[in-house]
Amino acid sequence: MKKQLVVIGNGMAGARALEEILARGGGDLFDITVFGDEPYGNYNRMMLGQVLAGEASEAGIILNSLPWYQENNITLHAGVRVDRIDKFSRHVFAADGRVVQYHHVIIATGSRPYLPPMEGLFTPSGTLRRGVFTFRTMDDTRRMMQFAGLGQRRGQQGKVVVLGGELRGVEAARGLRACGLEVHLHAGNRPTAILGSDHISGVSLRDQPDLDCDMVVITAGNRPNVDVAVVSGLAVERGIVVDDHLRVMDEDGIYAVGECAQHRGEVYGHLAPLWDQAAVLADHITGADRSSMYPGSPAAVVHSPLLPASRAFGLIP
Ligand SMILES: Cc1cc2nc3c(=O)[nH]c(=O)nc-3n(C[C@H](O)[C@H](O)[C@H](O)COP(=O)(O)OP(=O)(O)OC[C@H]3O[C@@H](n4cnc5c(N)ncnc54)[C@H](O)[C@@H]3O)c2cc1C
Repeated sequence: MKKQLVVIGNGMAGARALEEILARGGGDLFDITVFGDEPYGNYNRMMLGQVLAGEASEAGIILNSLPWYQENNITLHAGVRVDRIDKFSRHVFAADGRVVQYHHVIIATGSRPYLPPMEGLFTPSGTLRRGVFTFRTMDDTRRMMQFAGLGQRRGQQGKVVVLGGELRGVEAARGLRACGLEVHLHAGNRPTAILGSDHISGVSLRDQPDLDCDMVVITAGNRPNVDVAVVSGLAVERGIVVDDHLRVMDEDGIYAVGECAQHRGEVYGHLAPLWDQAAVLADHITGADRSSMYPGSPAAVVHSPLLPASRAFGLIP
């Protein structure tokens, strides 16, 4: 009889782990259920900058479309968040009321954007103010494009300040410039407030004069999504603590992979380590190679076609 495998998180690591498991005959071993809180199949998050810049379409960055899940007999609950795991009765509890039993569960919940403390960031109800954006998901990308397009339809050349100069910041800046906006990219200069009452009028920085703008994009790093692990009583430090088999420390049948996982003290924020982790996890969970171990990955050296863009924004010489 097949065992139940549940994957929480349908992003790049979760889907890659599934592909690796299927490649090792996992389709004959497991009934697979996937929960992903984004309402799509798996897409290439690295190409969101190209979508923003109009160089790629949304459809063009899909890696695993909805039919792919059907073809592989995978039950996908797209747009459904998981709240918690009961590790004693071995059930996963989703926000829509579904309860699914598991023999093995893989947590692949990724990261969320870090929002540095500053005034004027949130509405009274706790959501981001209109005109303030993060850059992590397809929906973030759509929202930015819609907002930029709105200004243009009014005949204005909008001004945007991108806070955070790492790769994501450069990608957001490059994409928004291609959308016709005037872009200021601000790295290493602490923002203290978002200005304006009805609509955004600028950003205050600690060591520089205020900058006028009508849109702000925050790309100030990420924090692992560990909520499910915390409420389920799993080992969590910066990320979900895993051993060399990607098994959550001291747990039976629970694994974590991708940006939510912490291995030998490291939490990774780029793709190469996730591929290695997914292969080891699949070796283990399918029994293809139970001696397979993940030794860790070199510190992030992310090669990117965007280095010339970083130079154009004055971020690197
Ligand atoms: C704009 C951008 C550009 C990038 N460029 C590069 C690059 O050039 N090179 C590189 O190496 N890396 C790059 N990255 C990083 C790379 O995309 C990530 O390392 C990779 O996507 C991480 O995979 P993941 O599965 O851990 O997380 P994600 O891909 O974020 O997937 C996690 C998924 O889990 C979902 N989820 C979270 N909590 C729950 C829950 N409770 N229930 C159900 N679902 C949940 C999330 O919504 C998400 O869909 C880039 C990232 C971004 C955003």
